[in-house]
Amino acid sequence: MKLSRILSNQNGVSRKQANALIAGGTVMVDGVVCREAAREVDRFSTVTSQGSIIQAGESAHYLMLHKPAGYLSATTDQVHKTVMELIAPDLQKDLHIAGRLDRASTGLLILTNDGNWSRRLTEPEIRIPKVYQVATASAITPVTAERFAEGIWFEFEQLRTSSARLELLGAQEARVTIYEGRYHQIKRMFHAVGNRVTALHRVSMGDIHLDGSLEPGAYRPLGKAEINSV
Ligand code: URA
Repeated sequence: MKLSRILSNQNGVSRKQANALIAGGTVMVDGVVCREAAREVDRFSTVTSQGSIIQAGESAHYLMLHKPAGYLSATTDQVHKTVMELIAPDLQKDLHIAGRLDRASTGLLILTNDGNWSRRLTEPEIRIPKVYQVATASAITPVTAERFAEGIWFEFEQLRTSSARLELLGAQEARVTIYEGRYHQIKRMFHAVGNRVTALHRVSMGDIHLDGSLEPGAYRPLGKAEINSV
């Protein structure tokens, strides 16, 4: 919401008065004077005017979980265990998953209550690289990397996936980098070239890498640099 709107949402403060307060240098956002009435301020920022709190910033949470196999990337489910059950109850409120993993998939899963931040991480247009380690049922043919680089046609969505990179790690093992996060994307890409994924592990999303010290099921808060990298 615009800063002027946050101020004028108070009883008895007009938009004009709000603009005057901001221009007068008495309004602070997170402890710093802000003279820009049109500044977009989210619910995580604290806004004060003449020393009084107008908006108390909510706490933003950013967690990295080492997702184990067998957990659904969902907040609730009637049948299956969900990743939310791995998170301490006092942290669960309002968390959502920034880029799901299939139930059998493992690796880096990010949970947050900051929707603007998670959108930047997951929107296909922003093209943040997501890196996966993949094992397959059959040998990976040389043509697979070419097909992935050209993009694979997804009939259901009527679209071609953007160019993906495949690095061979073994006859039936590869590192695959994609820039989107479409439904079962990697499994469907391998299916399109006549192969089948038997194990899938997410290693990184952009500059956020799965912390090697996290056992499956363990999590930690993201550091400042990790948060600011998105
Ligand atoms: N692609 C898949 O097919 N599954 C995942 O869990 C992630 C990417």
